[in-house]
Amino acid sequence: MNPIFPYPEFDYSKVDIDTPYYIIDRALIRRNMEILADVRKRTGARILLALKAFSTWGVFDEISPYIDGVAASSLNEARLGLDYFGKGKEIHVYSPAYSLDEMKAICKIADHIVFNSLDQWKRFRPIVEDAPKKIQIGLRINPEYSEVQLEIYNPCTTRSRFGVPLEGLIDAGVNALDGIDGFHFHTMCQQGSDVLQRTVQVVCERFEKYFASLKWINFGGGHHITRRGYDINRLCRIITDFQQKYNLEVILEPGETHVLHTGFLVATVLDVIENPNGIDVLIVDTSASAHMPDVLEMPYTPEILGARLNVDDYESPLDEGGYKYIIGSKTCLSGDIIGDYTFNHPIKIGDRLVFEDMSQYTTCKNTTFNGIRLPSIVSCDSQVEGGLFRVHRQFDYNDFRNRLS
Ligand SMILES: *Cc1c(COP(=O)(O)O)cnc(C)c1O
Repeated sequence: MNPIFPYPEFDYSKVDIDTPYYIIDRALIRRNMEILADVRKRTGARILLALKAFSTWGVFDEISPYIDGVAASSLNEARLGLDYFGKGKEIHVYSPAYSLDEMKAICKIADHIVFNSLDQWKRFRPIVEDAPKKIQIGLRINPEYSEVQLEIYNPCTTRSRFGVPLEGLIDAGVNALDGIDGFHFHTMCQQGSDVLQRTVQVVCERFEKYFASLKWINFGGGHHITRRGYDINRLCRIITDFQQKYNLEVILEPGETHVLHTGFLVATVLDVIENPNGIDVLIVDTSASAHMPDVLEMPYTPEILGARLNVDDYESPLDEGGYKYIIGSKTCLSGDIIGDYTFNHPIKIGDRLVFEDMSQYTTCKNTTFNGIRLPSIVSCDSQVEGGLFRVHRQFDYNDFRNRLS
């Protein structure tokens, strides 16, 4: 059993289709949704799904009833939210910059639009105010405070393009926030409520003089609320204290947390490369680069159900006498290695491996690099008799060809 999370006793590799496939467990999504619904109920905060992290609309029916709407980062995501997230749900849009055509189209469907700069707001204000319905306008601020260590995920570096820093608002003068209804900041990544607490403190210290003219504030994403050990009571306290003190509505727009630990990527071992000088290498019919890009981008090593990660400085009892393998991908990129693992039995050609936590930043981010087939998309429900397996989509040569010309 996986050491980091209790999964149901359920065989995700038994689906009778070719690998690779992603399989999303609806029961596990509902488990996360109960947690988010509880936060909503206790605080009155609005919670959105950031579609950037997860836009596999075939299971939106499990998410939509529990939350307030979606946070889109483009016109396409906004349209997807409108088409598939359910009636009466809010569409919030933020993008580092909008084009004129994009703004015209977004104004027809968005409830909230967040601008990254005062110039963009000024430029598009006439279009927004011409829209058939009143749109709430937000401004992304840059608190210049982030505890994210990795440069690629840190929006507050000196080279940042995200949001208006305090100085920018001061320079813009007394009417800087004319027409603006709310603030938006996003400075976290997979973090706990302790980080949020320190971040909110900085935001208040720097920006609270502007709060009186606002209606709401969006605390962005990066909140790992459904992770085991996350301090939910503290999150609720931060939100309620903030709302009481400033009389502003609070919005959260995480993406990853909705589907954390709800999905798997099932692959088949195609070959075992014996390595007389070291650890044998398994080649699987999937790819870190093409099907789980964050493995290389973040980087991190995904867990495999029934196996252990080999971490250099950590010898688990299982490593003793276990069967060690390096798992490599089916692409021609040398660095397309998924990781080092120990199994308690030898692995042979044809075995299926189940990579875990594969819902977020995978289906919405994969590629057809090397022309390798995209994994099918499957859902199941481990709480329902028979597992309710459903194959939503299988990909073939045409999907590869049709993105090109
Ligand atoms: C990426 C992003 C999110 C979602 O982040 P998660 O880490 O998936 O929770 C929310 N808001 C903005 C502006 C983002 O860029």
